[in-house]
This record gives sequence, C-alpha cells and structure tokens, in this order.
Amino acid sequence: MNVISVENLSFKYRRASDYALKNVTFNVERGEFLGIIGPSGSGKSTLCLALNGIIPNSIKGEFTGRVVVRDSEGREFDTRKTPVSQLSPLVGLVLQNPDSQLFNMTVEEEVAFGLENLALDPNEIGRRVRWALEISGLWGLENEFPPNLSGGEKQRLAIAAVFAMRPQVLVLDEPTSQLDPLGREEVLGLLSLLRREYGITIVLVEHHTDYILRHADRVLVMDAGRVIFEGTPAEVAEETELLKSLGVKIPASLEISYELRKRGKLKKLLITPEELLSELRSSGG
Ligand code: ADP
Repeated sequence: MNVISVENLSFKYRRASDYALKNVTFNVERGEFLGIIGPSGSGKSTLCLALNGIIPNSIKGEFTGRVVVRDSEGREFDTRKTPVSQLSPLVGLVLQNPDSQLFNMTVEEEVAFGLENLALDPNEIGRRVRWALEISGLWGLENEFPPNLSGGEKQRLAIAAVFAMRPQVLVLDEPTSQLDPLGREEVLGLLSLLRREYGITIVLVEHHTDYILRHADRVLVMDAGRVIFEGTPAEVAEETELLKSLGVKIPASLEISYELRKRGKLKKLLITPEELLSELRSSGG
C-alpha cells in the first residue's frame, strides 16, 4: 500500500522564474526504502518539503497536482487541506543541518517536545523518550545541552525526536552532508537499524550515493525539477553514464567496474570496494 502518493506535482516558489518541481509523479510504498539522488538544484529538498505539507502550507508558491499521505488505518490526507501539525507526526522530516532542528535545553526535552504536542500521557512520553534515545544510542546523554553534542549525535537526536512520534515515513534531506565521516557513519548506521528492527519507511536524499545504491529498494533520479529515472539500485547503476553527466557523485567501485565491464574485463557492476576486490581476485584480475 502507498503511504504517500505524489501526483503530477509542480511547484514554483514565489518570485522564482522557473518551477522547482515539474510534473513529478511517484509513490512511496509502506515499508520501502526509497532513495533520491540528483544534482544540486534539481528539486530534491523542495520535494522533501512537499511530502509533509510544509510546501504549500508554510512555504507558499504556485502548486499544482496532489500529494496524499495515508495513515496506518488507510485514512487519506491531502497535504493542501491538512495542517503541517497534523502531517508532521505522519511524515517525519529530518533536515541537513542538525542545529536548525534542535531548540530545547536538554536532549530529553528535545525528544519529549514533539510528543507533548501529540497530547500523550506523561508516562507514555517518558517511555517513548527513553526508547527513542536508547535506539539512537543517546541514552546517558539525556541531560546534555543539545548544542554541546557532536554533529553525529545532534543528527541522531533530530532523528530520535522524529522517530519517537512513530511516523509512517521518515524523510531525510541530506542528513549527513554537514557531518564528518564518523558522524555520517553513525547516522547511516542508525537508519539501517531503524529499517532492520522496525521496518520504518524511509525516503532518503543523499549526496553520497554509495549508501543508497547499497541499501535502497528503489531510487529516483532527479534533474531540473523532474524525476528522470526510477529503478532498483542495480538498474540505476546501469545508468552510470547518465549519473556522471548529471554530476552525481557515484562510488569509485561502480565507476571502475563500469569501465572494466565496458572493456570486457568484468561481468558485473559492483558498488562496494570489497565486492570489486573479491570479483577481481576471483577473475584473476
Ligand atoms: P536540491 O535539493 O536538489 O539542491 P532544491 O529543491 O533546493 O534542489 O532547489 C530546486 C530549485 O528551486 C533551485 O533552482 C533553487 O534555486 C530553487 N529554490 C529552492 N528554494 C527556493 C526558495 N526558497 N525560493 C526560491 N527558489 C528556491
């Protein structure tokens, strides 16, 4: 079942000369991990903001088409007709910059904040705060002042605060782009855990495509406001030349295996250095 349907969505920001999204159509299926890649300015962030209704409710512009979110009981919410406060517990959004998302005095309060807005019982709030902080590896830091955390911890806190609301979908817009390699690993590790343990539906925009090509169920490739390709990671890997022409950063192993295959020296495309090395060894290369 689709948890989000995007139908012929076009959006132009106020005062912008061109549309940031042009006739975009796709579904997010319950339980899937959908990756979104594309060059800078192709509309990925705009699309994320449209998935939980910030566009067009808070950020206004010319909006045509429809975005529909479904809750666990199958009730439908058209984002144009539903307040963001009602949509955000269903579609949790995590942005690039963790500092822009944290505004409470302690780690614990940060997670409790969204839950208080859901008017949950205080005991239930306490349980969920602990649960979300344990999952994200932050239990023990609950009394810390969020700005004192490392980049990876801050972003894990932002994810914990959203995940504690038990959203239908977690939408993450380049959550690791401002983190060092360790922070990036921590955040992507947490996403893998949320998939593995809780089967949460994920929509992830990532500049580093290796994680998406290794773990996503399906990938959308965007350019100039349009979805120009949609397929499995294996199908997207076949589009290496297209990705390179768009300026999308692809894993070195994919690029090397693509070139070797073109020259008849390798049979398949490989995403990780480990896979490439083991294939080269077994083929005597
Ligand atoms: P991406 O996330 O792929 O980098 P964006 O969604 O940020 O792409 O941007 C898509 C297009 O919309 C770009 O041309 C960008 O300049 C424009 N844009 C983004 N935000 C705004 C805004 N607040 N006002 C006007 N134009 C915007």
